[in-house]
Amino acid sequence: MTPFLRTIFLLFDGARWDVFQQLMDAGDLPNIRTHLAPDGRVRRAVAGFPTVSGPAHLPFMTGCFPGTLGAPGVYWFDRPAHALRKSVRHSVRSYLTPFKVSNLNGDVAPFTPTLAAVWPDTQYVFAWYTRGSPDRALLTRWTKIPSFVRGFLTKDWLRCDADAEAAQNRAIDGHAGFVFSVFPSADEVGHRFGPTSPEALATYRNMDGVIGRLFDRLARRGQADTTLVVLSADHGQSATHTHYALDRTVASVFGTTLTYKRWPTPPRGFEAVVLPSGNGMANVYFKGDGWDLGRPDPERFRAFAMGLLSNEAVDHVAWRTRDGWLRVTGHGGAARMREVPGGLIYVVEGTDPFGYGPLPATMDVETALHCTEDSAYPDAPFGLLTWARSPRSGDLLVTSRLGFDLRDWFEYQEPRGTHGGLHAQHAHVPVLCNAPLFEGPMRTVDIYPTMVELTGRTLPQGVEGLSRAK
Ligand SMILES: [Zn+2]
Repeated sequence: MTPFLRTIFLLFDGARWDVFQQLMDAGDLPNIRTHLAPDGRVRRAVAGFPTVSGPAHLPFMTGCFPGTLGAPGVYWFDRPAHALRKSVRHSVRSYLTPFKVSNLNGDVAPFTPTLAAVWPDTQYVFAWYTRGSPDRALLTRWTKIPSFVRGFLTKDWLRCDADAEAAQNRAIDGHAGFVFSVFPSADEVGHRFGPTSPEALATYRNMDGVIGRLFDRLARRGQADTTLVVLSADHGQSATHTHYALDRTVASVFGTTLTYKRWPTPPRGFEAVVLPSGNGMANVYFKGDGWDLGRPDPERFRAFAMGLLSNEAVDHVAWRTRDGWLRVTGHGGAARMREVPGGLIYVVEGTDPFGYGPLPATMDVETALHCTEDSAYPDAPFGLLTWARSPRSGDLLVTSRLGFDLRDWFEYQEPRGTHGGLHAQHAHVPVLCNAPLFEGPMRTVDIYPTMVELTGRTLPQGVEGLSRAK
């Protein structure tokens, strides 16, 4: 197959795989069907964990898992930095700020693959991570804040997508070899009105128009057959009816608790830190005998963590044991797991916490995906183990049950949609592509190496995903 000459990657933030398939079945996505899914079937991938923007963008841009790269949440706490500087400003990272791009570019592990390493003329639209590219490659660096503020004030997030489309058109007309575009509407509207609300479904139909106009533009340029077009999402979203203040529960047992952005924020003297991401997962950190002493013995919080499961809002709790396992407990049971070269060991204690059928005790990374992909918790064991790789991940991980989230204060709107967790609604994302891919399960980390192969480029060192190009 002749390699594609250029690539357009559209990240439709927060778009669910099953919603795409339902709208496709109803005949609502004619352009996407024509150009990206001629058999009417929407391919799906399992998103990187945690399933939250920022961290979950990285698999597409690096071929690596968020935890491998040191991005275990949209917020995280840096214990050594806090011990050294004793300042929240230096120890709590938030990617929900105007500085997200420079922060993420700086935080991601050194020597990580980049888009620029493969496609030096990459241009970006509303992207969060641009390492290796000059500042001017981010076409929306001056227009993003006005666009998003207008979206917030007017609730008209489709105009943000129109801004993304306009910038993407400039990149196409400017001959960029790779265009990475983020379309924010499905996530923003899903949070505001619910992920399957009429308003949210309208964003998917709008995206169908974007794809139609994109292919018209490429056809006018004579590039429709030589341009690789991929549409995917960083995570999905589930509907939310109840907010649970996890930080208040932690504070009631451990004392003063830092929860970033709940005002007032204690600048120091806190005993624990609670940082929800997408609001369906939270990294929780405990001071133990001191922030300078490393992670505390899990015995210090084990009984508390198990007690959290008596709350209907909490789905799973997970922590590292003293002997190097990651232990996950849910309402159904518990399992411990650990990485081994090329795979993992998974030991159920009693009943499987994810409701899986019998699994091999030792699985390579592909087997772990194949055995769990079509379940309520796709790829949860391996996803959790990649999260646990990061020294910045919490001492304790808490995830919420469907219908609940883990905070009762809000960034700027009361969320009616939740993500961040391991549920299929959060983790199954669409993969729509105008090139044939191998059948079978895949992860979002596979898309980067797939695009590298389809464009005939050389795969950088360190990519964790596998090409699924046919
Ligand atoms: Zn979101």
